[in-house]
Amino acid sequence: MKIFSVLFKQITTTMEKLSGESLVDYIINSNKVTIFSKTTCPFCKQVKSLMESLSEPYFAFELDQTQDGPALQNILAEKTQQRTVPNVFIRGMHVGGCSDVLTAYRTGALREMLDGTYEKCEYDLVVIGGGSGGIAAAKEAAALGRKVAVCDFVKPSPMGTTWGLGGTCVNVGCIPKKLMHRAALLGHDIKEGPAFGWRVSTDITHDWGKLVEEVQNYIKSLNFNYRKELRTNKITYHNAYAEFEDAHRIKMRNIKNEVSTLTAQNFVIAVGGRPHYPNIPGVKEYAITSDDVFSLNYNPGKTVIVGASYIALECAGFLAGFGLDVTVLVRSILLRGFDQQMAEMIGSHMESQGVKFIRGCVPTGIEKIEDGAPPVLKVHAVKGEKQESVEIVCNTVLFATGRNACTSNMGLDKIGIALNKSNGKILVDEYERTSVNNIFAIGDVIDGKPELTPVAIQAGKLLSKRLFSGEMTKMDYTFVPTTVFTPLEYGCVGFSEEHAIDEYDKENIEVYHTHFNAVENALSNRDEGKPYIKIICLKSDENRIIGFHILGPNAGEITQGFGLGLKLGAKLKDLHNLVGIHPTCAEVATTLSITKSSGKSVDKTSC
Ligand code: FAD
Ligand code: NDP
Repeated sequence: MKIFSVLFKQITTTMEKLSGESLVDYIINSNKVTIFSKTTCPFCKQVKSLMESLSEPYFAFELDQTQDGPALQNILAEKTQQRTVPNVFIRGMHVGGCSDVLTAYRTGALREMLDGTYEKCEYDLVVIGGGSGGIAAAKEAAALGRKVAVCDFVKPSPMGTTWGLGGTCVNVGCIPKKLMHRAALLGHDIKEGPAFGWRVSTDITHDWGKLVEEVQNYIKSLNFNYRKELRTNKITYHNAYAEFEDAHRIKMRNIKNEVSTLTAQNFVIAVGGRPHYPNIPGVKEYAITSDDVFSLNYNPGKTVIVGASYIALECAGFLAGFGLDVTVLVRSILLRGFDQQMAEMIGSHMESQGVKFIRGCVPTGIEKIEDGAPPVLKVHAVKGEKQESVEIVCNTVLFATGRNACTSNMGLDKIGIALNKSNGKILVDEYERTSVNNIFAIGDVIDGKPELTPVAIQAGKLLSKRLFSGEMTKMDYTFVPTTVFTPLEYGCVGFSEEHAIDEYDKENIEVYHTHFNAVENALSNRDEGKPYIKIICLKSDENRIIGFHILGPNAGEITQGFGLGLKLGAKLKDLHNLVGIHPTCAEVATTLSITKSSGKSVDKTSC
C-alpha cells in the first residue's frame, strides 16, 4: 500500500498540470485499473468492492469531487459512448460500467484483463449480419479508418432456400418484391395499351420462370457488388454463423463446420429476422414464405396466403397481377398498425382486381394431395366465431404471419444481453446500445422500431459515426415514411387517423381528404375514382400536419417528398402555399380543402 500511495502522489502531481482529454488519457494510461466514479453511486461502490475482493489496487477518480467533473464526464461520453458511472478501464482498455465489469468477472474475461493475458482485440468493430443495417455500419466505420469485419450466414429455409450476401432486403425482401410488383403493373399496362393506340396481341401470357430467372440474376449481381464493396473498403468478410463467447469474442462456424474466433472492441448485432411459422401440421413441410417465393422454380398456381399485413398483401397483389387465383386468409384486420380506412380501401381495390379475402379465418393444417411442381395441397381452416370449417384446394400456401428476430442460438444469454421476452427482440437505449456496454444492435432485430431497410441503414451509419468520429447524432425514429406496394400503392408518414385521435382527442384533429384520378389512366379508366389522399392536421398547433396518407399510382415516390414536410413541421397553410406540379397525383395534396367533419362528398369520377 505504501508503493501505491507514492504512485498516487506522482499521478496526482502530474494530473494537476493536465486538463481535458489529455488528463483523461493520462489517468487511463497510468493506472492498471481506473474507475471514473462518483462518491454517492452505489454501482461504483460495487465495482470498487469487487476490485478489493480480488486484491486489485485501483485508481478511483471521483467526478463529483472536482469542478471539472461534468466536463470530464462529457469527454468520457465522447470517448466511450458511455455517460454513466462507474466508467472502468483496465490496462488502458475500456471495460464499461458496473454490469459490464460483473459480466466480465462471470465469464473469466476480467481475470485475463487484470493479468494482461486478455488478447488485444483484433478489430475495432465486428458486425454480425451482412444485411442493410450491418453493411451500412461496417462501411461507415471502415471509412472512418477503423479495422472492421462482417460476419454473415444464411440458414436455409425449411424448403431449403438460401441466398448470398446483402440480407433480407436484397435477397428475399424489398428488391425482388419491387421487381415482381413492377412485373405485375407492367401486365396491366400492356393490357391497357389499345386504349393508347398500341396494337397488342390479345394472347398476353406471363412466364413465371423467366421472371424468376431475371430477378435472381439481378440479385446475384447485387450479392457480387456487396462482396466487392467490402473488399474495396478493406472490410474482412466471413461467411459464417456467429455466436458470442464473451463480450469481446465471437465463435464463427462456416458451412463446412469449421470453427474460428474473432475478437473486437465493439460489436454491432444486425441479424434481422426470419419468417414466423405458426405451429400447425404440415406448415414447414408444404408451405412456403417470402424466403422462398422469389426464387420458386415453378409457377405457384392457385395460391392461399395466410396473414394480412405488408408481406401478405404485397405478395397477393403481384401474384394476382400475373393472373393467378389468390385467396388471403385474414385472421383479424388488414394491415394492423396502419390507418384502417386506408387499409380497407386497399382491400376493396384488391378485391376489384380479383383477390379473394376470407375474414376471421385461420389455418389449422395443410396436407399434400398430389406431388408435383406445383403440388396440389389442401388447406384446412376455421372461420368466424362459430369456427366454421373451411377447406381450400390449391397449389401453394404462402405464410406471411410476421417475422421472428434471429436472437436465439447466438450466445446472447451467456453474455447477458437483455431481450424483450415476449418477442425475442433486443432491448437498446437511444444510442442503440444493448445491456452490454460494447455491444450495439440495429435494424429489424431491435425492439419497438420500424422494420424497414432505410431505418436499418440510417441507424447503422449514425451508430458508426457516434462510435468512431465523435459525432453524436442519434437515430430519429419518428415520421418514418413507408409504402405498401399493393397494386394501388399506399404511402404514408406520421399518425394514422385512429392513432392521432387516441393521442390528441377527436376535437383536436381535422382531416382533409379527397378521392382523385390519375390523368395517365384517363384513357383506360383504370382505377377510376379509387385513388384517395388524406392529411391529418393538429388544430391546436395551427393545423400542423401529423399524418399523410395516399392511395394511388407511385405513392412511394410521392410520400418520400411529403415526409420531409412532416419532419420539418409543415402546416396546412404551407401545403396551400406550395405550388403544385400539373398534371400529377401529388399536386392534389396542395389543394386539399374538404374536411371529413364537413361530411361533403369527395368522390371523383373524372379528372
Ligand atoms: P437483414 O437484412 O435481415 O440482415 C440480417 C443478416 O444477418 C441476414 O443475412 C442473416 O442471415 C444474418 N444472420 C442472422 N443471424 C446471424 C448470425 N448469428 N451470424 C451471422 N449472420 C447472421 N423494407 C423496406 O424498407 N421496403 C420494402 O419494400 C420492404 N419490403 C420487404 C419485403 C419482404 C418480403 C420482407 C421480408 C421485408 C421487406 N422489408 C422492406 C424489410 C427489410 O427487408 C428489412 O427491414 C431489412 O432487410 C432489415 O435489415 P437488417 O440489417 O436489420 O437485417
Ligand atoms: P406483420 O407482423 O406486419 O403481420 C403479420 C400478419 O400475420 C398479420 O396480419 C397477423 O394478423 C397475421 N398472423 C400472425 N400470426 C398468424 C396466425 N397464426 N394465423 C393467421 N394469421 C396470423 O408481418 P409481415 O410479415 O407482413 O411483415 C414484417 C415486416 O416486414 C413489416 O413489419 C414491415 O416493416 C416489413 N416489410 C416492409 C415492407 C415495405 O416497406 N413495403 C413490405 C414487407 C415487409 P393479426 O393482425 O391478426 O395479428
